[in-house]
Amino acid sequence: MRFSQVIGHHEKKKTFIQSVSNGRIPHAQLFIGSSGWGTLPLALAYAQYVSCTDKGADDSCGVCSSCRKYENLTHPDLHFTFPFPREKGEKCSELMVDWRKAITNHPYMNLMDWMQLLDAEKKQANIPTAEIRDILRNLSLKPYESAFKVMLIWLPEFLGKEGNILLKAIEEPAHNTLFILVTENTEKILGTIISRTQPVRIAPIDQESMREYLSRVPELDADKAMRISQISQGNLRNAMSLVQESESPYFEIFRYWMGVCVTRKMYSIVPWAEKVGAMSRENLKGFFQYGLELMRGVLVSAYEPTLNTWMGKEADFISKFQSLQISAAQIEQIIKNMELSMMYIERNARAPMVLTDLSYSVARSLKKM
Ligand SMILES: [Zn+2]
Repeated sequence: MRFSQVIGHHEKKKTFIQSVSNGRIPHAQLFIGSSGWGTLPLALAYAQYVSCTDKGADDSCGVCSSCRKYENLTHPDLHFTFPFPREKGEKCSELMVDWRKAITNHPYMNLMDWMQLLDAEKKQANIPTAEIRDILRNLSLKPYESAFKVMLIWLPEFLGKEGNILLKAIEEPAHNTLFILVTENTEKILGTIISRTQPVRIAPIDQESMREYLSRVPELDADKAMRISQISQGNLRNAMSLVQESESPYFEIFRYWMGVCVTRKMYSIVPWAEKVGAMSRENLKGFFQYGLELMRGVLVSAYEPTLNTWMGKEADFISKFQSLQISAAQIEQIIKNMELSMMYIERNARAPMVLTDLSYSVARSLKKM
């Protein structure tokens, strides 16, 4: 990854480049920040720059042999360590196909995204001792091609006590070895590791860079790009989920349903429930999650309008809903019943039946008290 592919962080990139050209490359750095701010992409761009054999004044060349291998994450002097579930193997090298796919598609991912990609959301992640031994074995080898060997440890908070095996290596690494640790939470890292690394604090993505990036997302208009850049808190993951929400396929289904419940046109409920109930369980779950978020938006907007993150048609829906003057207690009741229904459906209850029952209870909750 080149610096130009990392969103924002202009000053930080300059600092990195300057330190490399001055030959001041710390042997162990700890990048600190949220995944959605781009800590991992910055670490990758930095490592690629350090190793590039034809560095420019503001970026790696992108075409030398080292850059090409860095870009498809196959450089023999780039070693990755990351947490993963026990069931998947003993060492990170066994998961490289998945790992490359994950970083290539979504370098701003967090642990949850990574575990989802491994189909292991509910499993425990850790960095096993076998992997730590593998790091040491790698350290004992000379760099194959580059001037530098890079040991990139993503989420070192998952190094348990066994992480102490690495202390000596981090403190006095073999010649031309760089440790780059990328963390979200320094409080969970072994103090002994923190004290041996140089902290590099990464800030959220600045608003203008975020807006500029979002303006290139197909079919996202300039107003929306601006609004999302303002509320995504410099976090690309937040921003992209707001982009998706603003194009949710569930909006029309949900709006129609609420209309039926509010106006109590109960004869429309059964056909609606049959149609929606025929969706896959995955889609039904998506529908419920979307509807719940929207109803929470209604609730939040009533208390503190600035906390509402919805835009466009959803924002219209929320303000129309509020004009009905439905109390917070009524909305909370609806949310509770929707959560219950989602649980029934997850447990394989017959969906059209659950949706019909839910519609009646929502209509009752909506009745003015
Ligand atoms: Zn290069």
